[in-house]
Amino acid sequence: MKSHTKVAVIGGGVVGCSVLYHLTKLGWTDIMLIERSELTSGSTWHAAGGFHTLNADTNMAALQGYTIRLYKELEEITGLSCGLHHVGGVTLATTPERMDYLKAERAKHRYMGLDTEIVGPEEIKKLSPITNEEGVIGALYDPLDGHLDPSGTTHAYAKAARMAGAEIVLRNPVKELNQRPDNSWEVVTEQGTVIAEHIVNAGGLWAREVGYMAGVYLPLHPMEHQYLITEETPEVADLGYELPHVMDPEGESYLRQEGKGICIGFYEQDCDPWAERGTPWDFGHELLNDNLDRIGDALEFAFKRFPVLERAGIKKVINGPFTFAPDGNPLVGPVPGLKNYWSACGVMAGFSQGGGVGLTLAEWMVSGEPQRDVFAMDVARFGDWITPGYTRAKVKENYQRRFSVSYPNEELPAARPQQTTPAYGIWKEQRAVFGAQYGMEVVNYFAPDNEPLEETPTFRRSNAFAAAAAECKAVREAVGINEIHNFGKYTVKGKGARNWLDWIMAGRIPKPGRLSLTPMLSPAGKIIGDLTVSCLTEEEYMVTGSFGMQAYTMRWFEQHLPEDGSVTVENISTRRIGFQIAGPKSRELLSRVAFEDVSADAFKFLDVKQMDVGTCHAIIQRVTYTGDLGYEIYVPAEEQITLYHILAKAGQDLGLKPFGMRAMMSLRLEKSFGSWGREFRPDYMPAETGMDRFTLYKKEADFIGKAAALKEKQDGPKRKLCSFIVDSDDADVWADEPIWHSGEVVGFVTSGGYAHYSQKSVAYGFVPTEIANDGLEVEIEILGQKRKATLFTQTLFDPNNERLTN
Ligand SMILES: Cc1cc2nc3c(=O)[nH]c(=O)nc-3n(C[C@H](O)[C@H](O)[C@H](O)COP(=O)(O)OP(=O)(O)OC[C@H]3O[C@@H](n4cnc5c(N)ncnc54)[C@H](O)[C@@H]3O)c2cc1C
Repeated sequence: MKSHTKVAVIGGGVVGCSVLYHLTKLGWTDIMLIERSELTSGSTWHAAGGFHTLNADTNMAALQGYTIRLYKELEEITGLSCGLHHVGGVTLATTPERMDYLKAERAKHRYMGLDTEIVGPEEIKKLSPITNEEGVIGALYDPLDGHLDPSGTTHAYAKAARMAGAEIVLRNPVKELNQRPDNSWEVVTEQGTVIAEHIVNAGGLWAREVGYMAGVYLPLHPMEHQYLITEETPEVADLGYELPHVMDPEGESYLRQEGKGICIGFYEQDCDPWAERGTPWDFGHELLNDNLDRIGDALEFAFKRFPVLERAGIKKVINGPFTFAPDGNPLVGPVPGLKNYWSACGVMAGFSQGGGVGLTLAEWMVSGEPQRDVFAMDVARFGDWITPGYTRAKVKENYQRRFSVSYPNEELPAARPQQTTPAYGIWKEQRAVFGAQYGMEVVNYFAPDNEPLEETPTFRRSNAFAAAAAECKAVREAVGINEIHNFGKYTVKGKGARNWLDWIMAGRIPKPGRLSLTPMLSPAGKIIGDLTVSCLTEEEYMVTGSFGMQAYTMRWFEQHLPEDGSVTVENISTRRIGFQIAGPKSRELLSRVAFEDVSADAFKFLDVKQMDVGTCHAIIQRVTYTGDLGYEIYVPAEEQITLYHILAKAGQDLGLKPFGMRAMMSLRLEKSFGSWGREFRPDYMPAETGMDRFTLYKKEADFIGKAAALKEKQDGPKRKLCSFIVDSDDADVWADEPIWHSGEVVGFVTSGGYAHYSQKSVAYGFVPTEIANDGLEVEIEILGQKRKATLFTQTLFDPNNERLTN
């Protein structure tokens, strides 16, 4: 074993081996993998080996597609067989809601270049004669689905990496990780100590323990999972071809052919988290005791869906553990708070996702950033608020919902409320319906007395529609109040603060008393933040952005802080909270409670002021995401309730009404404001999204991403983010719907919904620049139906920004 290495990958499951291979592929060959036992000794060896592309996140789906296409390449490089069976697969729908979901997925696949199709019951029967199609409305057929040999595939990754120069050390547990002053790591193993520039935690079932070795908690939990293999059956043996996979969400099962028999696995409701207090180090190549009682109901259902199962004897039951993160996606990337420690764990579908995880992490390590937005699997999507108890509850929920329809407006109940602000009880009394963002309870809307305190999950307009409309009206015609706790907030202080911000942000850094909107870019010019910078003094700034991006944003800030200590950054997201008031009467309301002149001339659009409101110390910004006249009023968390009562009392006769996120997201639509994670994300660059308005290309500072952004601007973007009015009735766009023009898919939707006050269904999306002109007529496919849509360039509300700026 060598004594020094650029990278030590810990763990020789399918994921660790994929990371090792991809690092060599991108040119890093002085690397090694250290495995406790033999390759595949964690979850990998007992996997059923199935793979598929279906994933609600389009970038995850694309990476799954990459993984599946990679296997042929691995076979060619190594001469080893991955045991590939590209048999295709059908996901059944037995309810109209599931059919909506599958149609929406099919629509997304069009611009992703995936050849899935919707098939009817007859076609299903033809593809899979052992399936009883009774009660089945249709299915999504994916020709890329299939299965492989888990061990052969892992060894193929390993051999390909070895051939390129990587070292693999087996039967050598890593015992300790100690960071050295130069940020490299001392990796203490049973066979000696290695100094590694970087560590990759690919510890799979033991990833939590490998995290603790560096003092971090990685939110994942193992679950038990069972599948059965039957004896040979004539229905399969005599078929003459190999059966496609059948996913039957109603029965919580997946099925495929195994030899001349059948392999069927279950994601049952009565499921068991495993190894709650940690994975035993002596757990190896053994299986857990089978528990057929636990899958009794699912099995009974499966007998009806696949009657052949009743006649086929069970040859083998596999019960093994594998890990999940709270939302079921992997945990990948640089671990916040640590230097040179990377995560490649929480991968619950190693054979669908392992290649994409390996590629992403290798890109990140070698080039400094992944090529696409991988926030859906970024380890930084969870903050330090997360606890093992939260993870456990969410993982169980996720396992139970593995085959559930994911609705775009759905709020899942497990482990809630996790975090609340002081105002939570006030909203609750007013019949708030909450959602959760990054662990924090956030009001979605206020339910009228005759409505349930729950939003119905749907792809169509929900029961929140009328309530959100009323909230929008209150804002536009009087004044609305909404909590602003769900912004990420940071203070940036110090002598070097201005220069540092000027370098890290692409936009203008304002003078004292002013604020500006600015993108933050990666070196490749991708948008990695959509932030507001407020200058309180020359040496103190407040930066606000997306609440869910706290760990991501802090990780970036900390990676780029000057070493001389001239700048300090602090995350104050839950400490400085408050309310925004918005609407034509908001100035009147503020004037009643503020201790200073807030008239239009004294308090201008984009001003920021520190002033007292009632008895509270506040920082007030004249800006609101509603696109109306309005103010964000920030106070220390312990003064929030006081501030609420001051505003509520003073606003009573002005028609002050609370509003939630559903209304807020509707109001921004009629101002054509983009939102983080939808219109602005690391997949896009400033000029194509319109963010060039806020990018100060000419500033002296050589800001991060400047060269790439300038090039994009000078070359002219190939596509443009545009707004459309959609001709729809009971369903609006959510995201990722294809945009058709002249019979072809030319673009995709980023987000949208119903702009209540303007009474228009609105979509944002990208189309090629050459056709992105006012009045362009396109069609947008919503739930399988093409809807007419017209491009508009003048905002629907207050097109001259009179309300906003006067
Ligand atoms: C019953 C069952 C069926 C499944 N079916 C499928 C399927 O059909 N399709 C699919 O895609 N996925 C399936 N999976 C999931 C799949 O097995 C996992 O996604 C995958 O194996 C995860 O791989 P990994 O490399 O992350 O982790 P693991 O396979 O757990 O590998 C981690 C490795 O790290 C090593 N290690 C840990 N700590 C140390 C240390 N301190 N020092 C050195 N080495 C260490 C371990 O020995 C182990 O070899 C199934 C899982 C189960 C249990």
